[in-house]
Amino acid sequence: MLERVEIEEKQLSDYRDIVGDEVLEEIRSLAEPLKGARVLHINATAYGGGVAEILTPLAPLMQDAGLTCEWRVIEASDEFFKVSKACHNGLQGMDLELNDEMRDIWKRNNEMNAAKLDGTYDFIVVHDPQPAGLLHYAQPDHGRHWIWRCHIDTSDPNPDFWSFFTPYIGLYETTIFTMEQFIGPDLDSERVVIITPTIDPLKPKNQPKPRDRARATVAEFGPDPERPLITQVSRYDPWKDPLGVIDAYRIVKEEIPDVQLALVGAMATDDPEGWSYLEKTIRHAGDDYDIFIPHNFHGVSGEEVGAFQAGSEVIVQKSLREGFGLTVTEGMWQARPVVGGAVGGIKVQIADGETGFLVDSVAACARAIHYLLTHPEEADAMGKAGREQVREHYLITRHLTDYLRLFNILEDRQELATPERRTEPVQAQEGN
Ligand code: UDP
Repeated sequence: MLERVEIEEKQLSDYRDIVGDEVLEEIRSLAEPLKGARVLHINATAYGGGVAEILTPLAPLMQDAGLTCEWRVIEASDEFFKVSKACHNGLQGMDLELNDEMRDIWKRNNEMNAAKLDGTYDFIVVHDPQPAGLLHYAQPDHGRHWIWRCHIDTSDPNPDFWSFFTPYIGLYETTIFTMEQFIGPDLDSERVVIITPTIDPLKPKNQPKPRDRARATVAEFGPDPERPLITQVSRYDPWKDPLGVIDAYRIVKEEIPDVQLALVGAMATDDPEGWSYLEKTIRHAGDDYDIFIPHNFHGVSGEEVGAFQAGSEVIVQKSLREGFGLTVTEGMWQARPVVGGAVGGIKVQIADGETGFLVDSVAACARAIHYLLTHPEEADAMGKAGREQVREHYLITRHLTDYLRLFNILEDRQELATPERRTEPVQAQEGN
């Protein structure tokens, strides 16, 4: 048996005040023909990172909508997570080697986890590259419909990694990507649907936080609540560019000496690079005591992360590659302006000049932060516009709607075929 993640209790009706009746009615009517359908989500980790963040509310809401939903995680060694992190990086385009030993480790772990699958489901949704080989190694009749959900930016993958993965991905009836541009080369676009990630507005982290209270919480971790604070929340990872954020902050500090920087992070269990990149980040910060680097091992998680987001003047997410960037969504939902790297899903979320700024260099990042710190009213107005943008497009209820619509389509209820419907029969292929 794959390890089961406990699903919290959640009620759709609790979302009424935020999203309105119409959204809930649509969910109910899409869920009606799916009553009792068995859904299994599988990913690599129950904690840390965007996928866990999405499944935590999505699974119980599917359940409340009348489906039977399970969430399970694969079991794997550190050796596997090292390889799968390299795969993550390679699929996002990094110039890396994929050797036979790495292929074997990945295959062996997928085979081992596939052997642990039991039960039968109507829909099995496999998230991200780590467990993408499950369908190949499992008895396919565990699931009537197999879906692979890609959360990363595979628009320009390293060809060695992409050609290794495509035979496995190609087995799935449908694949889900976050943006059209992320659909990697040679995938059958007829079988692809586009779904953007979302956040849960009722999660303690995302609940509205009065500025004073948020700042008081932030102050417990060092920053002076009377002085301006810029915050980036992210794993310590080269793609998130914490070193670039420090460089941008240093430029801003030349003109605004009071400014403080928080690089809030979490160490995910599937991210072995995290510790070494954290150390790199600390070294880069040097002896500047206005830079704070708090993470979950200091007790910064959930509500505290939200307090940093709500209590900062500016939120930064200066990624160099980004599947979506839930931290951008969260920052906007806390009504703060967001300065984001002009890449991937961040480009979809930030309306440049309206809800924040898109930047493509350290200098541009510094200019945008400086502008927002010196135009606080405009910064507040951008924050409010961002919150409305999230309400309309990026709340978990919309995510649930998209999945229900997709499930109906896979059950051949064509009248609901808004996302593209698969037309090709699925052929079993040999993974290479
Ligand atoms: N996160 C957190 N604590 C941290 C760092 C990150 O709770 O110290 C959360 C963050 O709030 C967001 C998710 O982890 O909800 C990260 O998702 P994102 O899409 O930004 O990045 P990923 O880690 O999936 O690349």
